[in-house]
Amino acid sequence: MKYAFLVTALLGSSALAITPSEQAIKLAKDTIIVDGHIDVPYRINDEWEDVTRATEGGDFDYPRAVQGGLNAPFMSIYIPASYEQSGGSVLLANKLIDSMEALVGRAPDKFSLAYSVADVEKAFAEGKIALPLGMENGTPIQGSMDNLRHFYERGIRYITLAHSQANHISDSSYDLRRKWNGLSDFGKALVVEMNNIGIMVDISHVSDQAFYQAIEISKAPVIASHSSIRQFTPGFERNMNDDMIKKLAENGGVIMINFGSSFVSRKARQWNDRFNTKMDEKNLSWSDPNAETFSKQYRQSNPYPYASLELVLDHIDHVRDLVGIEHIGIGSDYDGVGDSLPENLKDVSTYPNLVQGLLDRGYSPEDIRKILSENLLRVWRQVEDYAARH
Ligand SMILES: [Zn+2]
Repeated sequence: MKYAFLVTALLGSSALAITPSEQAIKLAKDTIIVDGHIDVPYRINDEWEDVTRATEGGDFDYPRAVQGGLNAPFMSIYIPASYEQSGGSVLLANKLIDSMEALVGRAPDKFSLAYSVADVEKAFAEGKIALPLGMENGTPIQGSMDNLRHFYERGIRYITLAHSQANHISDSSYDLRRKWNGLSDFGKALVVEMNNIGIMVDISHVSDQAFYQAIEISKAPVIASHSSIRQFTPGFERNMNDDMIKKLAENGGVIMINFGSSFVSRKARQWNDRFNTKMDEKNLSWSDPNAETFSKQYRQSNPYPYASLELVLDHIDHVRDLVGIEHIGIGSDYDGVGDSLPENLKDVSTYPNLVQGLLDRGYSPEDIRKILSENLLRVWRQVEDYAARH
């Protein structure tokens, strides 16, 4: 309960810190929890910390993961969009994967890599945290199906087709230039090959057109590894609209809800827009050493409007009401969204709070288990089965 206490202290009296019940804690512990997107590899590449022990910073470490009942966080092999032009993406991807092997090598009693649904279940049975790998940004594929096979062999089990800019595979929701009007010809062939080889197609980050083309082509269910609902953030293409969620559900896929405040809250979204405009006016980018200082000052005079756990639950309700419980998962984006996480969902120790919120809204334990992992594991298994037949 150390962290619940800490959160209360940080939030002061205005926000309501919740304390999960025995039932919520037990449900979180007894159920496999899969998180679609956690940015540990890039975090420790940037600023190394030993996450096999408690760490000062970050949203993830082993003790907090155990406290939260987390069992299978997809480790994001994140390749910044700039690598499409600069080169070096294959090297970076290999190094980030190496770092996950090193992590498991240092603490084989705590972690194990997971290349299949069976591996996730085995790790859970052995009391270890499974680490499946997802690649965020298909840049390292470099137009080569040999590279695709290489990264499959290294353990990559989903690929987010693009990140913040169009690449040789797909347009990006953040990139106003629509280079391909969806997917490139190679991107279309890649989706087919990902199905054949057994890598999940992740449509988070891509443009709407690219989403519709991917879902049309894919013979297996696709995922959104860390996206939320556009209805709550009008005009934000990075989130999914209702029509897309329906198409995703028809295809059997799952949308894994991103917790970041700017993904779930209109207010936080607007705060971000204003902040980004200021950064542009000052010609600042995040690679600039002054950006951090400016951000701190800006936050002091413009307090960040953190979203609430209730708002995250509203996103889950929305998907359930629209297409049913079978198509919802969680993709927190921990270690990927900086200091923007909602109250009561500040790090990997807080999944029991989410479970408590779901129980309070009348979700049954069966439904909660679907959200926590069963839906994603169903999709992953279908992708495995399709590949085994092709
Ligand atoms: Zn992302």
